[in-house]
Amino acid sequence: MITRQFGVPVTSTGAILRRERDLGTPLGQETAEVLQSGGLVSDKIIIELIEDWLRLHGSHGFVFDGFPRTLPQAEGLMSILARLRSGLDLVIWLEVSEQTVLDRIAGRLQCGECGFTTSSSSAQFANRPVCPYCDGHLERRNDDDLSVLQTRLAEFRTKTEPLACFYEKMSVLHRIDGNRDREGVFSDISRLIEDKR
Ligand SMILES: [Zn+2]
Repeated sequence: MITRQFGVPVTSTGAILRRERDLGTPLGQETAEVLQSGGLVSDKIIIELIEDWLRLHGSHGFVFDGFPRTLPQAEGLMSILARLRSGLDLVIWLEVSEQTVLDRIAGRLQCGECGFTTSSSSAQFANRPVCPYCDGHLERRNDDDLSVLQTRLAEFRTKTEPLACFYEKMSVLHRIDGNRDREGVFSDISRLIEDKR
């Protein structure tokens, strides 16, 4: 939605890693195993991939979805941005309850090709699970089972939650209630982006 409205390229470490996996690079194979078990790929690898992506796509603005997730990643990102003479305008912190996370993951469909994500309750896709962007097959993610989720939540609490403080000190953090439908959340995000233009 941000890309369509503002023409800013968006990526996530998941999208970058899926691409490496599909290209069959050694890095892609190594990280696929880690992701399968719900763990996090090492900060060093993630930071290298992000720097490559930024050099290729980030010269006129960028959005990272779910990155950084750890303090070392956040510090690595600041070094990269300093080297590229760039910076961060906004950090958007989507706050959701654990119940919201559980409900959404239970009903999530994702394109195996491009990573487009939707809900299996969306009538549009119920009978014909085909990606609207690339015609890829929409499937339930295989890392969505409960034990993987518990690992992710634990990682979030210990490694990601401290980032709120890190970005609050830089005065770029904005908290948004994510327990709402996507239109409500997006209108808040749009307002923040427009204020920065
Ligand atoms: Zn797709």
